[in-house]
Amino acid sequence: MKQLEHIRVVLIDTTHPGNIGAAARAMKVMGLHRLVLVRPRHFPNATASAMASGAADILATAEVVDSLDAAIADCQLVLGTSARPRSLDWPMLTSHQAALYMHQAMLADRSVNQAALLFGTESVGLSNEQLQRCHYRIEIPANPDYSSLNLSQAVQVISYELRQVFLAEAGSALQILPDTADALAGHQSVESFMQRLQQMIVQLEILNPAQPKMLMQRLRRIFLRAKLEASEVNILQGIVSAVLAVDPNERRNDQ
Ligand code: SAH
Repeated sequence: MKQLEHIRVVLIDTTHPGNIGAAARAMKVMGLHRLVLVRPRHFPNATASAMASGAADILATAEVVDSLDAAIADCQLVLGTSARPRSLDWPMLTSHQAALYMHQAMLADRSVNQAALLFGTESVGLSNEQLQRCHYRIEIPANPDYSSLNLSQAVQVISYELRQVFLAEAGSALQILPDTADALAGHQSVESFMQRLQQMIVQLEILNPAQPKMLMQRLRRIFLRAKLEASEVNILQGIVSAVLAVDPNERRNDQ
């Protein structure tokens, strides 16, 4: 199913190479192909290859990168899987709802042509910082008393949900936008805006870096919820640049 080629699985800081291989297999049986590894501890690796079995091609074409931002730079939709809620409530979808949402965004609204699914490290899962790069947190609704799946099994459940939803529509004429078309702003441009916004509010002394509280996280939540278009990010960048262009001393003198 060609549409699934636009969805990448991103495994972050994976410790056990067997999980990378098992995740590759889990993806391939459901028709997903694009695997991105952020700082894998052991890769390439014989155990990974053994666990991948017939999915050696997924490992052979896997991309290895050294930062999450690099893994998702061109994605307009980023979903982070996590079994438990975090300090700041993040918008949540169940695995089934996430598959429906992705289908809607990619094929019906056509606002997304590249999407990423993030999976955390085995010991502690996704960090808050990683989760705060996501539009939604995806939760597999498991046993509340023991809800943490093995990494590759979590990849299997999510890939399965996606396949069921995308298969149900396989006969329709819906097509994903080509990469060059005008979709929502990609992660890289939203992230660069977020960095400059932070710089601005530090300079305006709205944010105290020594005591940041949750301000940046709250702002992130607003701007990710807004699903910005590229031209909208440009407007916001323009505003921030105009503020940053004013000499902070001059601003103080004006007050
Ligand atoms: N011990 C970690 C869980 C790590 S499991 C914790 O407490 O957070 C490894 C990864 O599998 C997680 O980072 C997540 O990506 C995925 N995962 C495991 N269980 C999940 C669930 N119930 N819902 C969604 N993702 C899950």
